[in-house]
Amino acid sequence: MKKRISILGATGSIGTQTVDILSSINAEVAALTTNRNIKLLEEQARALKPKLCVAFDEAAAKELKIALADTDIEVQAGMQGLIAAATHTDCDTIVTAVVGMVGLLPTLAAIEAGKDIALANKETLVCAGQLVMNAAAKHSVKILPVDSEHSAIFQCVQAAQGNALDRIILTASGGPFFGKTAEELKQVTRKQALQHPNWSMGAKITTDSATMMNKGLELIEAMWLYGLSEDKIDIVVHRESIIHSLIEFTDGAVLAQLGMPDMRLPIQYALTYPARVPSKVPRLSLAEIGKMTFFAPDDVAFPALRLARRAAQQRGNVGAVMNGANEAAVGLFLQDALPFWQIPELVAHAMDEVPMQENPTLDDILESDRAARAAVNHWKMR
Ligand code: NAD
Ligand code: MG
Repeated sequence: MKKRISILGATGSIGTQTVDILSSINAEVAALTTNRNIKLLEEQARALKPKLCVAFDEAAAKELKIALADTDIEVQAGMQGLIAAATHTDCDTIVTAVVGMVGLLPTLAAIEAGKDIALANKETLVCAGQLVMNAAAKHSVKILPVDSEHSAIFQCVQAAQGNALDRIILTASGGPFFGKTAEELKQVTRKQALQHPNWSMGAKITTDSATMMNKGLELIEAMWLYGLSEDKIDIVVHRESIIHSLIEFTDGAVLAQLGMPDMRLPIQYALTYPARVPSKVPRLSLAEIGKMTFFAPDDVAFPALRLARRAAQQRGNVGAVMNGANEAAVGLFLQDALPFWQIPELVAHAMDEVPMQENPTLDDILESDRAARAAVNHWKMR
């Protein structure tokens, strides 16, 4: 049977790699979205012939409409457009490859419409993990992880035969600044932060990898996906990114999933699960790799790790506050308006400032996100 999918964020790193594996998985595409990269979206639309194309940016959507005027593809804009793509009647699975908490409302809408979610957009779970997991259970939809670590855990869980996980071990590359001290991190530049050793990704997640906030976000993502408390999730720096993560059982046995660092495998598995099909991913040669190294993470030089543990312990709206502040601070950093080392400092400031709420509604989450961004921007303006 043909897989019927929509891709939110089709023009990004995960989005284009999803398009790249479509030929391997026998899929047809109902809808594609972008923020404003309409040149690439038009190209993708002409090749994949979706029913709907969306540009979040209103001006870009107008241009896209003109560009696709000779086709019968519908064009929409804004959040309404993203939700229309996420709930399109011609798809069963949504690949959520937008960056940031802008993915939350479309993901919730897709779940309510009964669509399975191939989830790359980790910010959604960090902000509203409880709401998203509750909605998925209520509507019996699957949340299939695309993030490589969570896909690795998911693949290991297939071998668990229903036995409970005792511990998750998330691997982290350590990013471009591994081994640097807090003092040395005061000197690093945007260009250096954007040079990831193992993965080619969008600018926001690449910056998150450099601050290690990416691993913090993934800790919270794992907590919601696998129902383990924060103290049952360890992080180990593994520079080569060959072991994508591990699980441990009550008897102490540990299972790992290995492979070359290539996102096309986890994307493909999220879309073919439980089946496996041939892929374009290069095969692993351990002899060529030679050795694998492991280190404890440094949460003094990389305080984002401590902030994420705090958010994972406190739950409630704290993940939304941490994430909103981080998106705002990374945005400033990428405009050269904030030094690298101040990113976690501003996130901590927002987490101290915005009041904690225990069982937030969706409106509370959206308000916490706004308040966190305001706290960062206000602090910056002083
Ligand atoms: P990217 O920046 O390359 O692409 C983001 C996509 O979202 C683009 O299509 C862009 O047009 C769209 N977009 C951006 N802002 C938007 C907005 N305000 N409204 C609507 N659409 C918008 O990012 P990426 O690296 O592909 O990452 C996407 C998501 O996947 C992130 O949540 C990231 O954490 C996660 N992820 C990425 C990787 C990776 O290897 N790139 C790995 C694991 C998880
Ligand atoms: Mg990851």
